Amino acid sequence: MRDGADTLAYGECETVIKVALGDRSYPIVLGERLLSSAGQWIAQAVPGARCAVVSDRNVAALYMAPLKASLDRHGLFLGEAVVSPGEASKSFAVLAPLCESLLELGVERGDCIVALGGGVVGDLAGFAASILRRGVRVAQMPTTLLAQVDSAIGGKTGIDTRQGKNLIGTFHQPSLVLADVSVLSTLSPREFRAGYAEVVKYGLLGDAPFFAWLEANWPKVFAAAGAERRHAVETSARAKAKIVAADEREEKGTRALLNLGHTFGHALEAFAGYSDRLLHGEAIAIGMRLAFSFSAELGLCSAADAARVEKHLSAVGLPTKIAAIPGGTPAPEALLALMAQDKKVKGGKLAFVLVHGIGQAFVERDVTLPRLTEFLARECAAG
Ligand code: NAD
Repeated sequence: MRDGADTLAYGECETVIKVALGDRSYPIVLGERLLSSAGQWIAQAVPGARCAVVSDRNVAALYMAPLKASLDRHGLFLGEAVVSPGEASKSFAVLAPLCESLLELGVERGDCIVALGGGVVGDLAGFAASILRRGVRVAQMPTTLLAQVDSAIGGKTGIDTRQGKNLIGTFHQPSLVLADVSVLSTLSPREFRAGYAEVVKYGLLGDAPFFAWLEANWPKVFAAAGAERRHAVETSARAKAKIVAADEREEKGTRALLNLGHTFGHALEAFAGYSDRLLHGEAIAIGMRLAFSFSAELGLCSAADAARVEKHLSAVGLPTKIAAIPGGTPAPEALLALMAQDKKVKGGKLAFVLVHGIGQAFVERDVTLPRLTEFLARECAAG
């Protein structure tokens, strides 16, 4: 299945997971050292397309050369567009020149944008692909743990505005997701840990045995590229693929379960200014702990389950308390206002993903504000 790849040692075979969406179905190809065979996978998934690669400076410095070499071997490389790393690149200010650069590279309707990077590059390049020449195809090549298990799968693209995160965007399914697990070894420990919060989320929302497996095996998942890390990524990608296939546009409630921890989390991220103070995954870790504590307080889930979640997130070094955000704690009213701005508000009511226990998430559309205010006041005051 490979071309030009070095002799491979561990984990030779790729896993292919199908995202079943009728004529828009696509494969998630997952394995080690896939960069060097990217040209072959893309040629197969998007026959006849030439490729313009979008990346950020950090990722391009590490991985553009092997990707370009592989695309060149197949005569597919059209050019590259490199943006600054960081959430600020998910903006109109970066999108506009990016689209123009892609047009200047000569991207035509039948060509393909390759998004090489984390969730920022994936969301931005996916959005650019969806509007360029009224829509060109995109291949997602996620390079962060968060992107491999979550953002690269499912077709949500977008940018942020002053009004909030991801408020401008499209659903634009990729033609291929190529997840090279070996590139995760260059991620900073903090970025890896933040991505791990999304791995834990799959256990918490619908797969209690996976959560138990993570409790037992997380040191190996964190330690190095190996079978455990790959198992964690694969299990998560499979879960995401299944949810997306069941509810592509978040209309039936199934996909909304992926928002476990996100209503709290997005408000905390907004409070921290979408900055290094609090990474997305860190905000989600606090948000998931809050969702479990709130559920326990409402009598929906056992206190023991909530305590287990907090223990595991803390064990891996993820924050679980609002007070853990460096540089100050928000006022509960400010958090509520930020939560009300979030896109999960319908008819003035907050839709929350709550839990009946580990692996048993559900959507509650009727969370009453006084109860939530009381809960948040206590959480914001807690050290
Ligand atoms: P990111 O894209 O900002 O990447 C984090 C940092 O790691 C960046 O500095 C990047 O340059 C660097 N990096 C990436 N890969 C690397 C590698 N292999 N080695 C070394 N450095 C590397 O952050 P992220 O956490 O991947 O993504 C966060 C974004 O994803 C947010 O904007 C969030 O809204 C979005 N998101 C989207 C979805 C979706 O469904 N579309 C889902 C979840 C999150």
